[in-house]
Amino acid sequence: TKQVYSGIQPTSIPHLGNYFGAIKQWVDIQNKQRPHQSNPLIISIVDLHAITMPKDPRLLNDYIYKCAATLLSCGIDPERTILYKQSQVAYHGQLSWILGCRVTLPQLSRMHQYKTKSDGLSEVPLGLFTYPVLQAADILLFRGTHVPIGEDQLQHLELCRSIAEKFNNAYGIDFFPRPVPIESEFTRLKSLRDPAKKMSKSDPDAGSRIELVDPADIIEKKIRKSVTDSMRLISYDPKGRPGLSTLIDLEAACTDLLPEEIAERCLLQATDKAEYKKHVSKVLVEHLRPIQAKYSRLIDDKKYLNSILDDGARRANSIAENNFRQICKIVGCG
Ligand code: ATP
Ligand code: MG
Repeated sequence: TKQVYSGIQPTSIPHLGNYFGAIKQWVDIQNKQRPHQSNPLIISIVDLHAITMPKDPRLLNDYIYKCAATLLSCGIDPERTILYKQSQVAYHGQLSWILGCRVTLPQLSRMHQYKTKSDGLSEVPLGLFTYPVLQAADILLFRGTHVPIGEDQLQHLELCRSIAEKFNNAYGIDFFPRPVPIESEFTRLKSLRDPAKKMSKSDPDAGSRIELVDPADIIEKKIRKSVTDSMRLISYDPKGRPGLSTLIDLEAACTDLLPEEIAERCLLQATDKAEYKKHVSKVLVEHLRPIQAKYSRLIDDKKYLNSILDDGARRANSIAENNFRQICKIVGCG
């Protein structure tokens, strides 16, 4: 059976890259489900992943709620989707150990995320290295078959498939599926400060990303200061003009227009870059308005958010327990 599974780290408030690269797909998938489907979409707020890099405990706790409130504001419906916090399902850590026994050091050293995030660190935490193993455990604990993710996570998913395969071969049983990605059309939103990097929650420069709950004046400022190039007029050229093309991509993602159509309109009207940046800011502010209105109603209601997460954890645990028991049997522990 098809089981869609995905997750997000509560390292900060979700940004437009998370939204167009992942969250929007989640909502679309959820909304196409039948009511009371036996294998609903499962979304995890992966707090155990978030501590692979040092994190202030109070901040982390805050971001867990902010992340949950953001996802609900974007349209995740806890009646139809299992939304839970990773640390409330202890089987993740246990399965991660079992799967870790089927991965090699060179496999993990090849991971781009590990290379990027460990770059420049004098001491590299083990968790940063084994991150993809825990991620594989997340997906495989629910025998996930489809994973809607951004392009940056494709390599991890490929590793997850290889781990699933190794496990199945080692024990001579076809237990784990080989999960495949569901990619959005908008797979890699670039940093506003450096088009060579992706937009990231953990980038220390908050000016590099637009958070879904940024107020209008902040959005306007971040777009105005975004790094583009020295040409005055607008054209769509993702390779040659990556910074400016990112802004056009953003407008396209918020509207029904193609990037090429937007560039043509700008050319006809002789729109210059400063004008265009103002225009994109407006489009984004409008697009985020309903999400932000919902968010401001939810964020202070911790009791409600806790009830959603507790209920999600209860449902996730019952599926996980059943699968984990079978896994233990297969391995010989159970
Ligand atoms: P961090 O910097 O802490 O790793 P992040 O912004 O990379 O945060 P994650 O929680 O790691 O966000 O990823 C959540 C989902 O968002 C994943 O499916 C990931 O592929 C997707 N995603 C992250 N950044 C982008 C981006 N810039 N463009 C498109 N999708 C993205
Ligand atoms: Mg990430």
